[in-house]
Amino acid sequence: SRETLFFPPDTDASSLGDEGLRKRILKGSNIVLSSKYVGGEGVEVVNAEFVKSSVRTEDCPSDGLPEFALVGRSNVGKSSLLNSIVRRKRLALTSKKPGKTQCINHFLINGSWYLVDLPGYGYASAPKELKTDWNRFTKDYFLNRSTLVSVFHLIDASIPAKMIDLEYARWLGQNQIPTTLVFTKCDKRKKKKSGGKRAEENVEDFQRLMIGDVFHTPPPWIMTSSVTNVGREEILLHMSQLRNYWLKH
Ligand code: GDP
Repeated sequence: SRETLFFPPDTDASSLGDEGLRKRILKGSNIVLSSKYVGGEGVEVVNAEFVKSSVRTEDCPSDGLPEFALVGRSNVGKSSLLNSIVRRKRLALTSKKPGKTQCINHFLINGSWYLVDLPGYGYASAPKELKTDWNRFTKDYFLNRSTLVSVFHLIDASIPAKMIDLEYARWLGQNQIPTTLVFTKCDKRKKKKSGGKRAEENVEDFQRLMIGDVFHTPPPWIMTSSVTNVGREEILLHMSQLRNYWLKH
């Protein structure tokens, strides 16, 4: 139904019939493509380069280019997704080097926008004071980075919703940080030991548990797999229309 869809800002879909609207929904998502903002240059990744690691928001690049930040629990598949998006093995490994996992890592795409790899959360083995410190510094980035177009919050769809992910999603919602929910590992078959549900069911459950009264409009969500590359084109189209909207405002 229309209420569960994500319409890019300024998109008037009232003139579209149900069939016309259906054609505009990106596969495996609730995202409607707007004819106004999609396309143009740079939907495809032609060029990707690691630019810098920063430990504070103030140290991030200051060229004013729009950016998307990837965040998620450790092991959610963040590096794999980053590599799948840019179609490069090992690009994201730069941020997996010791000392860089706790940094804000900027990758410049096509010379015109950034993908940002943020520290993962929920490491079981991290000392408590380190955990809170990562939290503080990532939250500062979310609240103060003016060129942040949207956070891409990664959620593992091969397992049932975890409290820590729900809390993180609610925090982003409460603070009105633009967020896209990216469900990872959607290729995985259901297993009894991980809840016995299909990825689609876990995706639905997560949203039902998360939305509550935090979100007035449903956040965009999309299903992906770094194994089959499902969702890759769709993520790039979504990023392209968000970027084009952002650049015009
Ligand atoms: P990170 O810690 O969030 O950067 O996670 P990684 O990208 O290192 O992935 C963690 C584990 O999940 C690895 O064993 C990956 O092979 C696996 N993985 C990542 N993405 C996918 C996916 O889309 N499908 C499946 N089946 N496994 C994945």
